[in-house]
Amino acid sequence: MKVLKFGGTSVGSVNSLLNLKEIVEGQSKPTIVVVSALGGVTDLLIKTARTAADGNEDYRELFESIVTRHHDIIAGVITDRTGELLKETDTLLAELSSIYQGVYLIRDLSPKTQAAIVSYGERLSSRIVARLISGSMLHDSRAFIKTERKHGRPVLDSELTRSLVVEEFRPEVLGERIHVVPGFISTDKHSGEVTNLGRGGSDYTASIIAAALDAEALEIWTDVDGFMTADPRVIPTAYTINSLSYVEAMELCNFGAKVIYPPTIYPVCVKNIPIRVKNTFNPSAPGTVIRNDVEDDRKPIKGISSINGTSLITVTGLSMVGVIGVNRRIFTALADNGISVFMVSQASSENSTSIG
Ligand code: ASP
Ligand code: MG
Repeated sequence: MKVLKFGGTSVGSVNSLLNLKEIVEGQSKPTIVVVSALGGVTDLLIKTARTAADGNEDYRELFESIVTRHHDIIAGVITDRTGELLKETDTLLAELSSIYQGVYLIRDLSPKTQAAIVSYGERLSSRIVARLISGSMLHDSRAFIKTERKHGRPVLDSELTRSLVVEEFRPEVLGERIHVVPGFISTDKHSGEVTNLGRGGSDYTASIIAAALDAEALEIWTDVDGFMTADPRVIPTAYTINSLSYVEAMELCNFGAKVIYPPTIYPVCVKNIPIRVKNTFNPSAPGTVIRNDVEDDRKPIKGISSINGTSLITVTGLSMVGVIGVNRRIFTALADNGISVFMVSQASSENSTSIG
């Protein structure tokens, strides 16, 4: 059994959805398909919410563009004459419209409301994809992807989620069919409030499911041929990397290669499940495979990536030299504020510690 995840651009247009249909229907069954919101919709949902919270009436026009976007896609790909999908879509959009009106009237956008709003992106897109793939079964990730609050933000409860996923996709349910799952969205394990796994989190949803079910592979279908040796917008001669180890992929992701959401790698890595990055717009390209042992490993450098918008802080002073617990205090202060550190270096004299 494989888990295939399709990102925003792969579900964002009529053509890409038709490619998706062909790719998915060509798989052996069962297969689980995890989808993102239609490309650009999550950004638009947030922008509309902020505009409404500012008391700016333009939010209505933005909301209308969300409606049109979904209606156009449905008109382009669905030949279902019963109009059932359109009805379901409009019910969700009517709910969303009421939430926006509430935000506009109260001029307030709490994190809880924002999480509820962005969840509509994947709830809408997954319905479209489920309808597009005949005989598929739609699941609701809010029922089995569970988070808890830590350092002021939702964090996956891995153990609870794992057991709920195993239960949701028990063999009788899995059968010989295609399953469609909205990525990104989750709920708080105590309150049941809608939460999410962070921007780009659909990859993570797919990885969590693949690991829980011991899938034979996780495929990330996106709009590039795979990981590249460098950002092709900066280095025009960059080319696709055939294979990477989990650790190499993790390093590239955390350092700005936007191919996979960084937390995605861990769940499948511990289960030794390979990740294949494939291009929905060029399905015959081999893509990049990420696994434990990489054969063509003679290249000491696999790729170069970079990140913007990050801070490098150096804490320095001779009074730190030889003082036990200085780093603990620095890291406790960062952890208490929910800040994740991605790079650390300390001078051997102990007179400075630099933190990225
Ligand atoms: N739709 C969400 C986002 O844009 C999740 C995802 O696409 O993976 O961040
Ligand atoms: Mg994405």
